[in-house]
Amino acid sequence: QELHVDLGNISYDIKIAKGLRHTIGTEIKNIFNGRKIALITDENVDKYYGSETEKSLKNQGFDVRKIVLKAGEKTKSFNSLMTLYNEFIDFNLTRSDLIITMGGGVIGDLGGFAAATYLRGIKFVQFPTSLLAQVDSSVGGKVAVDLEKGKNLVGAFYHPSLVIIDSEMLDTLPDRVFNDGMGEVIKYGLIGDKELFDKLYNAGGRNDVMKIIDDVIHTCCDIKRIVVEKDEKDTGLRMILNFGHTIGHAIEKYFNFEKYTHGEAISIGMYEITKISEEKGLTEKGTADRIINILVKYDLPYDVKIDNKEEIIDTISLDKKNLNNVLNLIVLDKIGSCRIIKESRQFFIK
Ligand code: NAD
Ligand code: ZN
Repeated sequence: QELHVDLGNISYDIKIAKGLRHTIGTEIKNIFNGRKIALITDENVDKYYGSETEKSLKNQGFDVRKIVLKAGEKTKSFNSLMTLYNEFIDFNLTRSDLIITMGGGVIGDLGGFAAATYLRGIKFVQFPTSLLAQVDSSVGGKVAVDLEKGKNLVGAFYHPSLVIIDSEMLDTLPDRVFNDGMGEVIKYGLIGDKELFDKLYNAGGRNDVMKIIDDVIHTCCDIKRIVVEKDEKDTGLRMILNFGHTIGHAIEKYFNFEKYTHGEAISIGMYEITKISEEKGLTEKGTADRIINILVKYDLPYDVKIDNKEEIIDTISLDKKNLNNVLNLIVLDKIGSCRIIKESRQFFIK
């Protein structure tokens, strides 16, 4: 399956198919006529897919330098950027060469930012390997690194030249990482596609989802494509992709990014905001209950014990999306449809 993200002269394709990793060399050949490729990945992904990907590229005559970083969020740092820049220079990578990011959102965001900044910008291809990266982070052009003070504080809008998605690679994901990505997949169903929601609702869990995975990925990428085409720089509509995230971010922070993964935290966020909006009559009755039912299928949490609710509400009010004490919140009208509302912190206090 194929999608085209239409952004004028920075448009690009998203290719989705099982086994694409075997023919990545030919896919790259179609969009790139240079010779050198820096292939960035992490240790986990390298273990499973490093050598075969390198081989497929070398078979097409490319000169490949594989750069393997440690796995995990800590790698999305300035230190890693330095490592990458030094490797690029050592490899004599020029502006007419190419970077490929093979990994989850960490490698995509970091490698994408390196591509955006090295020599003022060099072409790159997203080759996402986690579910979250395949349905979310590889599409849309947001690339970044973290600072001590917070996540994604330094970054750019810089789009790839191509996104290559091989859903077979999800087979090696640990369950918790797979389910983490399901949090975002469920989000797409909730904000924009009742049919997707129903499919996930009727599926029994990971194994059932894998039977329809290409279709699921295609639907999610298509929703993201439509939103990004209308609001590339995130000044309005793109906010709807943050459904569940305002509370979710506060929960991640409250527990020092240790207790919950991002997908788990936004699951709680999606449920909690819907419970409130339903009570206020903004959302169709029964929606919050259906959210519980779908989350538990994917081992995702929905409620949470918070001793200090004030702290959570303070964090929410400090969220970067908050301008002049007005919070932009995303609420569901019903499953498959959402809207942006402007509220004060009072919204969260009964
Ligand atoms: P990640 O990159 O850390 O990957 C999760 C884990 O899965 C890692 O341990 C990784 O090594 C492993 N892994 C990845 N693919 C695998 C495979 N095929 N088989 C076995 N193991 C595999 O994290 P993530 O959840 O993919 O992404 C999270 C990051 O994405 C965060 O930094 C977040 O800020 C970012 N993000 C960016 C955007 C965006 O628009 N740019 C959107 C959402 C999230
Ligand atoms: Zn998210």
